[in-house]
Amino acid sequence: MTEHIEDSGRPVVLRVTGLKKRFGSLEVLRGVNLTVLQGEVMCILGPSGSGKSTLLRTMNHLEEVDSGRVELDGELVGYKQRGSRYVTLPEKQLAAQRARIGMVFQNFNLFPHMTVLQNVMESPIGVLRRPSREVKETAMGLLDRVGLADWSHAYPRTLSGGQQQRVAIARALAMKPRLMLFDEPTSALDPELVGEVLDVMKGLAADGLTMVVVTHEIGFAREVADNVLFMDGGYVVERGHPDDVLGNPQERRTKAFLSKVL
Ligand code: ADP
Ligand code: MG
Repeated sequence: MTEHIEDSGRPVVLRVTGLKKRFGSLEVLRGVNLTVLQGEVMCILGPSGSGKSTLLRTMNHLEEVDSGRVELDGELVGYKQRGSRYVTLPEKQLAAQRARIGMVFQNFNLFPHMTVLQNVMESPIGVLRRPSREVKETAMGLLDRVGLADWSHAYPRTLSGGQQQRVAIARALAMKPRLMLFDEPTSALDPELVGEVLDVMKGLAADGLTMVVVTHEIGFAREVADNVLFMDGGYVVERGHPDDVLGNPQERRTKAFLSKVL
């Protein structure tokens, strides 16, 4: 699989190879391989407990790995190699790598004591040390893009879940990430608010942002994903184009899962 997609000539942004992870005696990732090219959207589906969040969290080293590797633009994430040994990077270098990967969580995780605008400006100033005038201009542009320019001085608690999630997306984008990771970004939302968040994400995909999205929104995956990956029990059970994996699944476990969520 890897070979044919690389023939497109597009650069590989993310490569995960032979990734294994256990918590005590529980094997959560049992050897995961995947490749995401620049501008691609990969959707990851699978039942609760199949290892989706853990996989996503290893991609920016929020989680240590037991074996295998994660590479961002060809650079090993989280570790440096010393001969055959892997040594965890110092915190400063981890922070620099994480700054290149945006992450959006199920529960928004906005800073409650900061306004919407302050939330979006925090990391570019605090982490990247960008000048505040420039950061403010970019932040206002991003809030406009997610439809919240009029809410810049509001506090998160006064916003709906859909609005909060759109702020969280703007906040991640403010770091100009190379890659965006979304972990069930609409799962905590009331049904009528799901669409506004998915619409923002569709716009990002259309603009060529490279994204990995854990989601149960099959319609979104069908419409937006270049590749769909179905996980169960720490394995990638089935992968491919959404028309195939979602429209004509081959594996029993994929069929069973889809019949429940569709
Ligand atoms: P998913 O996102 O697909 O629901 P997770 O990656 O969150 O799955 O979890 C996979 C398995 O790993 C689950 O059985 C979960 O309970 C377990 N797990 C996740 N994080 C931890 C942790 N920090 N310590 C122990 N077990 C964990
Ligand atoms: Mg999860």
